[in-house]
Amino acid sequence: MHFSLNLTSAFYRLSFSALLGVVWGSVTAQNPPPAPASAIVLLRPAAVFDGEALHPGWAVLVEGDKIKAVGPAAQVGTPAGARTLELPGQTLLPGLIEGHSHLLLHPYNETSWNDQVLQESQALRVARATAHARATLLAGYTTARDLGTEGADYADVGLKQAIDQGFIPGPRLLVATRALVATGSYGPKLSVDVDVPQGAQEADGVDGIVRAVREQIGKGADIVKVYADYRWGKGEPSRPTFSQEELTLIVQTAKGAGRPVVAHASTPEGMRRAALAGVETIEHGDAGTTEVFKLMKQRGVALCPTVAAGDAISQYQGWKKGLGPEPERLQQKRLSVQAFRKSGGVLVVGGDVGVFRHGENSREAELLVQEYGYSALEVLQAQTSGNARVFHLPDRGRIQPGLLADLVAVEGDPTQQITALRQVRLVMKGGVSYPTDK
Ligand SMILES: [Zn+2]
Repeated sequence: MHFSLNLTSAFYRLSFSALLGVVWGSVTAQNPPPAPASAIVLLRPAAVFDGEALHPGWAVLVEGDKIKAVGPAAQVGTPAGARTLELPGQTLLPGLIEGHSHLLLHPYNETSWNDQVLQESQALRVARATAHARATLLAGYTTARDLGTEGADYADVGLKQAIDQGFIPGPRLLVATRALVATGSYGPKLSVDVDVPQGAQEADGVDGIVRAVREQIGKGADIVKVYADYRWGKGEPSRPTFSQEELTLIVQTAKGAGRPVVAHASTPEGMRRAALAGVETIEHGDAGTTEVFKLMKQRGVALCPTVAAGDAISQYQGWKKGLGPEPERLQQKRLSVQAFRKSGGVLVVGGDVGVFRHGENSREAELLVQEYGYSALEVLQAQTSGNARVFHLPDRGRIQPGLLADLVAVEGDPTQQITALRQVRLVMKGGVSYPTDK
């Protein structure tokens, strides 16, 4: 029985391979074949967006797991032995880079954040996360910065390994593991008489912070995430949590180990302290002011506004989008993003996916264009070459010879119509194609 199944898998894989070069078939749970160094695939879309600009009539040549050539189709030619993949009417882009996800969370209108942290076993959360990773990849996101397991300890490190070792399909991950919070500032909170597991690691003061940062890095954190502000009690507004000294110490300790620090911050004071401490990106920034955005620009701190998360949460709380008046929280957000745009600061595109459904990552790009005044071109640049630059990933984010063959083809022209990002027709990661079921 087992033997004949394997034969079937091998047959399907060979059939797909004949078409596309190398395909990770959904018919097999085995490791995907690495792209053979010799496999050459010529992709002929209607246009190539190379991470900066749209080029109609260009073609891309992939050899093994790398991009070999890109340019006008006539110049690229058709090398001997190359398989040609015609992508009529489609635009080929660098694999998209998700700036802010939580693969270990699922939408809060299915299960509240508290209940996910307190009542779902880690095994359940990890099993779900494998499906989330697949959905993310098939939505065209070949890299994701995953900013905290929210109570699932170091499960993101294992998830990343399972993807890298080829056991499950998923994006290349940058993981933050547990994230850091000041004692008492985070959640879940039940009765004062019971200490319940928290959604992040509590740490305070010199010794506590140094130890926690080193512990997370030692266990596999690529990034250290800190909550610079949060609501201390239910229904309260956010207020700063860590002191300036503590934040600075977090950044120094992480930097020494070659890890960047990112901060959750939505208050001007939390953002100010985080920027002064030397974090690389600030997440959310809901109440950001002209002054604090100016400081961020001076200090080279990028903003990931996560507009899709607020949009989703407002709807979970009863807002009928398009019918009811816009909640104050979103009006505030709009003003903040406007002030940020005026400041000329660097935009990171990341939706806080997990708050809403994995695989719908492009909601962030859509909202930035449809409701926050960015052009589709600006958002596409930010979500490819821009995110790659901010995240220190020089091997991706553009379509250039020598870079990873992480590519996505979408129907139509996303520089004109951002919703084209939803029409994914091909996903390639490291030269391996993943069927998109479309
Ligand atoms: Zn988040």
